[in-house]
Amino acid sequence: MVKNKNLIHFLISHAKNNGFIFSSSEIYGGLNAVYDYGQYGVELKNNIKEYWWKSMVFLHENIVGSDSSILMHPDIWKASGHVDEFNELLIDNKNSKKRYRPDILIEEYIEKKFSDYPERKKEIFLRLHQSLEKKNYSDIRILIDELNICDPISGTKNWTEIRYFNMMFKIKEEIKKDLFLRPETSQGIFSNFNNIKKSSRMKIPFGVAQIGKSFRNEIIARQFLFRLREFEQMEMLFFIHPNDEKKWYEYWKKNRIEWHLALELGDRKYQLSNHKNLAHYASLGTDIEFNFPFGFKEIEGIHSRRDFDLKKHEFFSKKKFRIFDSNENYIPYVIETSLGLDRLFLAIFSSSLKKEKLENGTERIVLKLPPFLSPVKAAIFPLVKKDGLPEIAKKIFNEIKTNYRLIFSQKGSIGKLYRIQDAIGTPICFTIDYETVEKNTVTVRDRDSMKQKRIHIKEISNVIDKKTGIENILKKLSINL
Ligand code: ATP
Repeated sequence: MVKNKNLIHFLISHAKNNGFIFSSSEIYGGLNAVYDYGQYGVELKNNIKEYWWKSMVFLHENIVGSDSSILMHPDIWKASGHVDEFNELLIDNKNSKKRYRPDILIEEYIEKKFSDYPERKKEIFLRLHQSLEKKNYSDIRILIDELNICDPISGTKNWTEIRYFNMMFKIKEEIKKDLFLRPETSQGIFSNFNNIKKSSRMKIPFGVAQIGKSFRNEIIARQFLFRLREFEQMEMLFFIHPNDEKKWYEYWKKNRIEWHLALELGDRKYQLSNHKNLAHYASLGTDIEFNFPFGFKEIEGIHSRRDFDLKKHEFFSKKKFRIFDSNENYIPYVIETSLGLDRLFLAIFSSSLKKEKLENGTERIVLKLPPFLSPVKAAIFPLVKKDGLPEIAKKIFNEIKTNYRLIFSQKGSIGKLYRIQDAIGTPICFTIDYETVEKNTVTVRDRDSMKQKRIHIKEISNVIDKKTGIENILKKLSINL
């Protein structure tokens, strides 16, 4: 196992060297907290999206999809509360000119300083959260002084007062009002509520699922893919009768945790955490936290947004967002599940990357991804570059390449080719050799066990389907729904 402290470094270099993740604009020195997905990263990301999309839209007959635009009328953000409420606190160090989130500055400090004094840690943590709840920011500033927290860069305590900072990116429009890059995808669903309800003819309860980019001007952007300024969210809004809030909130909490567990990254890697500081729109909230290489952190939020958003949109747009049911006329409540795609990518990638000692004393690096998520489902190699073996391998590749993302390669020894596929998480490799010519059989090599066996050429597709088919996991899930 790779030691935790080195894991992040190992992850970043493996992701870069194997075409998963690159720093954005690297040739100009990079751009803080913005990353690009490379040739295998994009395949893994698309497979994760497919898993989420199918389990939401295919497995629930009352959930439909949507893909709304990133740019929206600026009044949406006024109505949703993001213009006034979507703020973070910040504090600057006057010497280093570095900017911090004061709550995180304190939390990180006490985590290190009082790791052996849990009572003291708890006491400070409580005071911090009470001050945050009461919006008593001068007390947080006093706490920083009392704890003697120094800026890690300048080493000084020369701090500014604590201020607010709106996290939305603004785009200047010459004539009209400024536009914003959306900080969540949900508002595109809320604003289309009537269109979707009418065109789908769905009755309450029903849901709308969406995958898309969001943007937040994060003050502290670090920990690789964990806190980005441009990221993707997979969000689902489930519209319900107000009396059923508790029931559906519990349903979605259970559903979402089961969905994560089905990935088999390890049951003990998840924990639920009830929200201490709810977002401005929420009345009930739970985070699913994942044990990242830097500890347990939020990966998905499940909230009851009640009728907060639709009510505000009624007020600002003067349109009605109502359900007319027998004698009733009401604004539906909403349970939202919101999962960060990049955070999930990091969770899967970091849990799957292993260094293994082999029996012959050598080491291999293998990405033990859940096979249905692997960027490449199978690789096909000829044993040697002669005697017609490459032609047979190419023929098999061409026959099945419309069904799966495959790799055909004849560059290097078989051992080296296996290592390359291990590093990108390809679950199966097929080798075409002289027995293929005689008996129509090929060697199958399994990524995880490294065991090899022979199968008939006709079985190749079956073997790939059985090992990597998304249907297998979806069937397991649908039994639990
Ligand atoms: P955090 O407390 O970590 O800032 P949040 O509570 O603000 O997260 P939500 O607004 O609930 O996050 O967003 C839903 C999901 O979107 C999060 O659970 C996370 O997976 C993802 N997400 C939010 N902000 C970011 C970000 N800056 N970079 C990557 N993913 C993010």
